[in-house]
Amino acid sequence: MATIAEAKRQLTWVFDTNKCIGCQTCSVACKMLWPQEDPGTEYQWWMTVNTQPGRGTPRDWETMGGGYNGEGVKLGHIPTDEEFGGGWDYNYDEVLRGGKGRKVHLQKTAGSKSWGMNWDEDEGGGEFPNAYFFYLPRLCNHCTQPACVEACPNDAMFKRAEDGIVLRNEDACQGAQACAAACPYKKIYFNQTRKISQHCIGCFPRIEQGVAPACVRQCPGRAAFVGFLDDEGSMVNKFVEQWKVALPLHPEFGTRPNVYYVPPLAPAPLRDDGSFDEGGDRIPADYLESLFGPAVHGALDVLRTELDKKRRGQDSAVMDALILYRWKDALGHLSRDPADIVWK
Ligand code: SF4
Ligand code: SF4
Ligand code: SF4
Repeated sequence: MATIAEAKRQLTWVFDTNKCIGCQTCSVACKMLWPQEDPGTEYQWWMTVNTQPGRGTPRDWETMGGGYNGEGVKLGHIPTDEEFGGGWDYNYDEVLRGGKGRKVHLQKTAGSKSWGMNWDEDEGGGEFPNAYFFYLPRLCNHCTQPACVEACPNDAMFKRAEDGIVLRNEDACQGAQACAAACPYKKIYFNQTRKISQHCIGCFPRIEQGVAPACVRQCPGRAAFVGFLDDEGSMVNKFVEQWKVALPLHPEFGTRPNVYYVPPLAPAPLRDDGSFDEGGDRIPADYLESLFGPAVHGALDVLRTELDKKRRGQDSAVMDALILYRWKDALGHLSRDPADIVWK
């Protein structure tokens, strides 16, 4: 079991679930940059965006176990390829190039998975007219107490002192998958070709050049923020430490994650007569508490108060920051243009 050094500084992500439009640009930006050409990474999506409520990626990951209990790290289920989904293939050759386009329709070929990355897309919860859903972008949390690092029997994983990114030495990885069993967020994939585990690398080559992670920089919804948590000028510090409107996902897993979420607000539910029930919750409060812990109620109170101020024409630094008038403000100290760099 590895020991975990405390990082001097911690890179931190914040996603505003009120602004995420579920476009998957972050997922694709990551996929195009990293788990793409390496054999065995075809099914890997280090960044995933799921509709909530939903079973997530991998399917039912929240019940698979891992993280910490009172006695230390606990191992849970290792997700299967089928649970991760993806890896679909279609009969393109037959339909598009085989001259059978008028007789045969496009369909999955044998061997394709029965589950996809965001299988529950836009289904959500609630009953008409009070249905609701929101999107939850997820990457490795680069946890302060990373169960994956502690569980690795080969000391192949480590947490960087300079920025807290959790990485793996692929030469030392023996494919034991203890990391995958221990990660309660189920953000580790197994490369069947190379027989090693792999996960989000926090875009560390970009970070070292002052460039924001691709998943943040490419976000068209202006829903993603990054920076050092202890940088008081950064948006992530303001959201997490100063205003307390951004919360970790499943804090009870015990790994102290460093990806935070501004919880979703929703319009008041409608009564049978069509009037708004201003005191009611369209998104059940206990559901949000199950995701973000009891602190979610305080965060939602702050958001509602600040939103109300803005509606009445008063100043609100919180709402201005969430609106994000200047998108580079989301990037903290990582605002360098990647196009200005000669990448080796
Ligand atoms: Fe949401 Fe931004 Fe990702 Fe689109 S790119 S899914 S808006 S976080
Ligand atoms: Fe490890 Fe999982 Fe935390 Fe990432 S999210 S650092 S893989 S425990
Ligand atoms: Fe992918 Fe980089 Fe975002 Fe990690 S930080 S999910 S590697 S784009």
